[in-house]
Amino acid sequence: MAEVLGWEHEMKMKGCGVVLFALPFQGHINPMLQLANILHERGFSISIIHTRFNSPNTANYPHFRFYPIPDGLSQDYVISSDPNLIFAFIKFLNSNCQTPFRDCLSNLMSTASDPIACLVTDVLWHTTQAVADDLKLPRIVLRTSNVLSFLVLTSMSSLFPLQDSEAENEVPELPEFRFKDFSMFEASDPGGFVEFVDTVVQETKASSGIIYNSCEDLEEEYLTKFSSDFPIPIFLIGPFHRYFPASSSSLLPQDKTCISWLDKQQPKSVIYVSFGSVAGIKETELLEVAWGLANSKQPFLWVVRPGLVQGSKWVELLPNGFLEMVGERGHIVKWAPQQEVLLHPSTGAFWTHCGWNSTLESLCEGVPMICQPSFGDQNIDARFISHVWRVGIHLESKIERGEIEKAIRRLMVEPEGQEMRDRIELLKDKMNLCLKPGGSSYRSLDNLVTYMLSL
Ligand code: UDP
Repeated sequence: MAEVLGWEHEMKMKGCGVVLFALPFQGHINPMLQLANILHERGFSISIIHTRFNSPNTANYPHFRFYPIPDGLSQDYVISSDPNLIFAFIKFLNSNCQTPFRDCLSNLMSTASDPIACLVTDVLWHTTQAVADDLKLPRIVLRTSNVLSFLVLTSMSSLFPLQDSEAENEVPELPEFRFKDFSMFEASDPGGFVEFVDTVVQETKASSGIIYNSCEDLEEEYLTKFSSDFPIPIFLIGPFHRYFPASSSSLLPQDKTCISWLDKQQPKSVIYVSFGSVAGIKETELLEVAWGLANSKQPFLWVVRPGLVQGSKWVELLPNGFLEMVGERGHIVKWAPQQEVLLHPSTGAFWTHCGWNSTLESLCEGVPMICQPSFGDQNIDARFISHVWRVGIHLESKIERGEIEKAIRRLMVEPEGQEMRDRIELLKDKMNLCLKPGGSSYRSLDNLVTYMLSL
């Protein structure tokens, strides 16, 4: 209590506002808005600058002020699942939004009732560092993924493009990882990608600090290396969703019918399948997933996002008679309340693309995983799950019904699956402890608040 009063006192003295700017992807918006809530709870007033594209649902945040900026995208723009196009999109946003962002921020600074302590932007908004410097406002970056994946980016020029002969080799200092786990994606313009990453790294070094949605208990060894490479304050205060769930920042409506369906299933019997908000699969792969799930005889809850297969509206590509055949044993939705699903006692495993939010959400609920990464840091997350923490199975061969059935059996039925379950329970306890008084993230959040007030 004394600590809380201390903050309140300091806030009154300084009257602090924070401006936040998320990259407009679901997996980046969720942690940024969770961070905004965390800071608001600590007494900061919150202003959110956002692109018009994928604009957050402002009605869910009456305690924040929102400032849309033009982004140059058409209203019906759809994010591609092709990593080369995603990379081009992020570059486009950085150059297109710099001036509107500058105008908005400078206007906000001159009219805000509370003086603004600092700006927090996604690490990938690298053009905001120059704006912050011009306006003399400290910028702290948010990295929505883990420390190791950012360390990998700092070594990108030596890793990229990857030689085929090296791909399977272990990374000497990190034997659980192979060079191919660090390769991010097959860039059509490797030089352009390395240059972009280099700029992001330089602008991060020029920032006033970095916040991670991760915790020291997960990444202690990488943190030491990171601190020596990055002479800026570092705050690991995650997992964010444990403070505030992500449901209010969902860009798509979450279909709650899956909860009543889960209520009817046996404890830990259901395999939950979702490949996140961006990753796509081919039509042939969709059919293999469908048959793999059907043949496993296990109940399943499957998120088939419209556009999961490029151009698809929803389930029209599933084999004729598939839905009738699986009947009540399967439930398919366009978008799920994922955190509620993972928390549900019937959920026994998560077949995931290994986005970092999904990985943390599964760890915190003690749900072991089947890993099907597509690109970027998902490959690193998958190796964390399968080889570092050993709480999941990495599906590495091509998506094929027999392999899927085997992986589901290994996880749901065989003793190996129980061992993973036991290990993930221990990790779950660790993750929950780090947010409690005395825990590493709890301490780090205290340090972050003190630091922001000192800027
Ligand atoms: N999510 C959700 N419903 C779904 C699938 C995903 O609410 O049906 C949420 C999930 O809880 C997570 C986010 O969307 O917070 C996805 O982020 P992640 O980093 O896992 O993957 P991305 O979508 O960025 O690839």
